[in-house]
Amino acid sequence: IIGGMQDYELRVMRLLDHAERESGSREIVSHWADGSQTRTHWAGIARDARRLASALEALGVKPGDRVATLAMNHSRHLVAWYGTIGMGGVIHTINPRLFEEQLEYIANHAEDKVLCYDAAFQPIIDKMKDRWSTIEHYICFDPPAGSAATSFEALLESGDADYRWHEGPERDPCMLCYTSGTTGNPKGVLYEHRSTVIHALAEMQPAVFSLSPQSVALPVVPMFHAAAWGLPFAGAAAGIKFVFSAVNDPAVLCDLMNEEKVTHSAGVPTVWLAMFQHIDSTGKKPEYLQVVTIGGSAAPRAMCERIMKMGARMNHAWGMTETSPIGTMGAPSPDWDDLSFDEQLDLVTKQGRVPFGVELRIVGEDGSELPRDGKTSGRLQIKGPWIIKRYFKAEADALTEDGWFDTGDVSVIHPDGVMQITDRAKDVIKSGGEWISSVDLENAAVGMPEVAEAAAIGMPHPKWDERPLLLVVAKPGTNPSKQAIQDYLAQHVAKWWLPDDIVFVDQLPHTATGKLLKTALRDQFKDYVLP
Ligand code: ADP
Repeated sequence: IIGGMQDYELRVMRLLDHAERESGSREIVSHWADGSQTRTHWAGIARDARRLASALEALGVKPGDRVATLAMNHSRHLVAWYGTIGMGGVIHTINPRLFEEQLEYIANHAEDKVLCYDAAFQPIIDKMKDRWSTIEHYICFDPPAGSAATSFEALLESGDADYRWHEGPERDPCMLCYTSGTTGNPKGVLYEHRSTVIHALAEMQPAVFSLSPQSVALPVVPMFHAAAWGLPFAGAAAGIKFVFSAVNDPAVLCDLMNEEKVTHSAGVPTVWLAMFQHIDSTGKKPEYLQVVTIGGSAAPRAMCERIMKMGARMNHAWGMTETSPIGTMGAPSPDWDDLSFDEQLDLVTKQGRVPFGVELRIVGEDGSELPRDGKTSGRLQIKGPWIIKRYFKAEADALTEDGWFDTGDVSVIHPDGVMQITDRAKDVIKSGGEWISSVDLENAAVGMPEVAEAAAIGMPHPKWDERPLLLVVAKPGTNPSKQAIQDYLAQHVAKWWLPDDIVFVDQLPHTATGKLLKTALRDQFKDYVLP
């Protein structure tokens, strides 16, 4: 041996150790379902995580076992994550908005031993308890007075604040997240200590979330949606202040953002639709935001424009549960300051560039790599240290022969590396041998002030194979005509993309993470005949 560096396994608990040691007094604020607020700090989270880890061991939980949560965002949920991981367990966040069959499937498939839940989800527990076959302990984060439920705080009381973290190899699993499964059963993605730590390091950098000790983040994205995009881990690494809200009402969020001087927010586009309505009707607005991250679905251009005009950096993120979830981020380009406002807007409307650690390519139907020319579109494939290899309990890897994960998205890559999603492979509308992007059509439609939401689906067509049908939810109090929408669209998309028909609907179906549920729509309109 001629020299070398230390052994230092990349374990998730090193993130919390660092936060406790270097930023122990940095606050973690929680706004609870009953409207009350509590404040703790990183040292408090670390102490409680140790108490929980030892209490879980006392309950009989073993390293590798799954501990589930059914909860909104708050400090106790954060303690549940770190406490479970700290005793070598695997934290499994369950999305309470899933359908009953999916709730049944994933808790049984994960073989959860313990479930920590919010009192607000007691009805789900009551309904599912008999169908969940492996859960031995139910722990309530916030039991109402007089309730017989085991309380999380009582469990902590029984724990040992001097507990020492379970150690092991960095490739141990630490977290399990299921995809929402728009087709078939949800699939489990098992994050590892190493992948989680490297992802957290990548997330802090300026071109991604841009986190520093000065940051104050309010992740509107729930902790059950792809690990709140990794923020609870990256936030510990950076020693930021967190503001959690168990309530997603825009009035509550807006007040919290101002009272706590929130600089960073993250959420899906619908969060901002609701916030804009709140701003328009009350005249209040978040005053301190610097970096607004929007992802999970494409952020419409009009939304990006409004965020930029609020004076914040519009950070458009693309990713998926299988990618931990950060894949790309629409951060400012090298020539940003020389661009006009419209050019900057063009750029942030796209999904952005990869941080170090992620590689992207697009391939054609035959699997051959396509050029990064900003014109050719193909299936998007990805690789890197925080990208899935194999689904939980699957019998084979989910990779191509040469080791890439196929995202199921269709995109173009521009010569400067900027990636632009054009659609999901199963949603593109194939018309006359060419592809129409359902997403572009939808985004063009919601640019019209009278349109609240829109969905485009391909309908069978004798001559063209498929033609677009556009389903529109009009804004309350408006009554746009089909012709007015067609005229508006004609200014924004190619003529042959214009929908063959428009149908007005009261609402559109969504997945548990708030995305348009196209399978349900295709089913609903399967007998519809285009004019
Ligand atoms: P699901 O909702 O199916 O469980 P994920 O939450 O993991 O899955 O979502 C991943 C998918 O969401 C991506 O494959 C992509 O289709 C879509 N998506 C995520 N971010 C964006 C974005 N910024 N623009 C367009 N599509 C996005």
